[in-house]
Amino acid sequence: MSLIFDFLSLIYPKICQVCGKSLFRNEHILCMKCKHHLPLARFGNDHKNPVAQVFWGRVPTVMVTTAFLYNKGNAVQQLVHNFKYRGMRDIGIFLGEELGRVIIENPLHHDITHIIPVPLHPKKHKKRGFNQSEIIARGIAGNISAECNTSILYRKSYSGTQTRKSKFERWENVENIFSIKNENCIKNKHILLVDDVITTGATIEACAQCLLRIEGVRLSIAAVAFTRS
Ligand SMILES: [Zn+2]
Repeated sequence: MSLIFDFLSLIYPKICQVCGKSLFRNEHILCMKCKHHLPLARFGNDHKNPVAQVFWGRVPTVMVTTAFLYNKGNAVQQLVHNFKYRGMRDIGIFLGEELGRVIIENPLHHDITHIIPVPLHPKKHKKRGFNQSEIIARGIAGNISAECNTSILYRKSYSGTQTRKSKFERWENVENIFSIKNENCIKNKHILLVDDVITTGATIEACAQCLLRIEGVRLSIAAVAFTRS
């Protein structure tokens, strides 16, 4: 399937990235049918928001927003996979724009001034060629009037593979890997921290703890998708 898909993508770049059908002129990335059936994960600013619950007692937030539900084998997983591991950046922009549309409907977004993507380690960045969270953040920035900033929050050390470690070890592993520079420009600002998929929230939490040390910073969190861990 994927070889045929690769080949078709070369000669007919305009095909649906979920079902493989040719797209009409007014369609982008997905056909109308697949777009209509994407599983949504859009929650309110209340105690029932399951993504906000992930951060309860860990990170104080203004709002926590996701667009889609990510499950093994679903269309969202397929899109995220093609974006991250097959380098299809236009899928990332599309996902960021979709997320941006959810964010502008939330009244709490109005004073966000900076959008900060979760940084990727430079080695991983070099290998992949891009930071997926940055591409999503740029898609969001097209929808809300805030600046996407990739220089304030950065990753200090390489944490290696996380797959063989326990949840506690993974947490230990991410706790001290982020740091801040030029903190003055985000003092007293409302920051939107952006990731691709939220699972345990450990990486976001580590970033949030750096950002929340800065005077007056208020934090919101957004991710394209949410998966229950
Ligand atoms: Zn389709």
